[in-house]
Amino acid sequence: MLKIEHIGIAVKELSTAIPLFEKLLNSGCYKTEKVESEQVNTAFFQKGATKIELLESSNSEGVIAKFIDKKGEGIHHIAFEVADIEAEMTRLKAEGFTILNEKPQVGADNKLVCFLHPKGTNSVLIELCMENKAAID
Ligand code: ZN
Repeated sequence: MLKIEHIGIAVKELSTAIPLFEKLLNSGCYKTEKVESEQVNTAFFQKGATKIELLESSNSEGVIAKFIDKKGEGIHHIAFEVADIEAEMTRLKAEGFTILNEKPQVGADNKLVCFLHPKGTNSVLIELCMENKAAID
């Protein structure tokens, strides 16, 4: 794992959370993106080498909506950048971690991502992410 790439925060409404984080971080949101496969709308802030990703559910059945129903708004996951996501998935599986995806998925911000089951990581949802070099946009 190379570094903490971003911290994901579940919010009810991007329309109120974006201006709040703009004030908090004293920098503008540089990107918003809808990720259909995960039923989320995301908003990104850059602070040094690390990003903050705000996550709003795009419908009432999405994972973020369910998370907020259960736990309320707050930190949802920590994402680590890796150099080779498949190799890291293999390594972590061998170490006994449960990976929630069979294969890396295309996530927000042009990344290949996968998640580790929080039951095996002290209840912290961990994301691995790697630049999606195959994506042509
Ligand atoms: Zn994330």
